[in-house]
Amino acid sequence: MRSKAIKNLSMAYAVVDIETNGAAPGAGTVTELAVCITDGQRMLGRSEWLIRPDAAISPFVQRLTGIRPEDVEDAPSFRELAPEIAARLEGHVFVAHNAAFDHTYLQREFEACGEGYKGLWKEGRLCTVQLARKVWPGQASYSLGNICAALGIAVEHRHRAGGDAEAALNLLHRATELKGATFLESMVKRRAVLLPAGIQADELPEHPGVYYFLDAKGRAIYIGKAINLRKRIVSHFSRNGKGGEWLQRVAEIRTEPAGNELAALLLEYLAILKHKPEYNVQGRFPLQLYHLFIYSNRAGQPKLAIARGKKPEQVLQTFRSRDAARDAYLKLLETHAICPVFNHQSRQRCANPDCYCKETAETRDALHADRMAVLVQTATLRDVGRFWVSGTGRTPGEKSVLLMEDEQPLAFGFAPEDADPTAEEIPDYLQSLPDAANLRALVEPFLIHKKTSNLSSS
Ligand SMILES: [Zn+2]
Repeated sequence: MRSKAIKNLSMAYAVVDIETNGAAPGAGTVTELAVCITDGQRMLGRSEWLIRPDAAISPFVQRLTGIRPEDVEDAPSFRELAPEIAARLEGHVFVAHNAAFDHTYLQREFEACGEGYKGLWKEGRLCTVQLARKVWPGQASYSLGNICAALGIAVEHRHRAGGDAEAALNLLHRATELKGATFLESMVKRRAVLLPAGIQADELPEHPGVYYFLDAKGRAIYIGKAINLRKRIVSHFSRNGKGGEWLQRVAEIRTEPAGNELAALLLEYLAILKHKPEYNVQGRFPLQLYHLFIYSNRAGQPKLAIARGKKPEQVLQTFRSRDAARDAYLKLLETHAICPVFNHQSRQRCANPDCYCKETAETRDALHADRMAVLVQTATLRDVGRFWVSGTGRTPGEKSVLLMEDEQPLAFGFAPEDADPTAEEIPDYLQSLPDAANLRALVEPFLIHKKTSNLSSS
């Protein structure tokens, strides 16, 4: 019994109807507004306002609603009423017949009144047209007048805000009687962000880093990384309420700064290894890998290609996505002036009139082989020895350090800006990394560009 009572209290609905001056949604277009508050079963309050629009009321709308210009010329403007209206709507699910219509108008009105009203929509929205379609399928019409007539719901003052809001309210109550409060709750669509209690979106940091979703017992149930932590975290909770049931278990969110994207990736990797969070998709590491590799065709010409899955013999680089492999593939061909058409053995014509593929077969093959040899030399980290890649630190005066031995990531951490990570075997401030193919694939895209420029070798 007790839990039922709490449940009823947990959802409160504001059933809304507006009349407009007939203009497109915008500031100063609403002429009348009614709000009925309900717990889904009983009306708990009712408010109605006449509002002075910014522009004339169209003759059609005057005929439809009976609201004449003289009725509203002395009424307060929406801006003047906004605090009072907001106080009624706040903390309630927004309900209307054709909810998107009323919602769009009101949202525009409130937007014009400033930033402070954004929280008004965070409880979500329920459309009584959609509700009626679900509860009473097969009706000829779901317009407010027709569906109410079909169900025997009497409507007084049709096409006035108060009358229509009450009609929608009665429809809602009727649906609850038939289907129950839980069904009603399931019809609520949430677009707005619903972060766990006590967490404010604007208090989340916007720097790169790792985030931990903790349950009530403080266990990490999900770990992720992001370039912009706030954006990423908020996106989990704002997928129209469809982010997944499990998000409701998130009681606390912790973030850890990383300074840069590569550092965020590595911190995430290490954190997932350590905590094995329940909702990190198993098999994310390892995952499908794409390899850039060299093979010889039947004519003995070396070719650069992309292979998925198992590692082929002559691998240059490994990537976590086809797109990343494809980007690197094209970049390498371009950098080394290798004809993509000839390399790909495509039947297509090469569009470059000066390309070496137009030479005699002998010259062409020799040039191709030479350029490919240089590509192999520079595109692999084999025999490079020990080097490190640094990035922006978490604080000024700090840098992130990834220590590599050839293709193998050795250790990672943060160090003072002037530290030399190759001065000792593995410095204390670095954490050893496991020897894993998926980890190599993780860091590889960050190394290609660094290899010639920002590389410090011992
Ligand atoms: Zn060519």
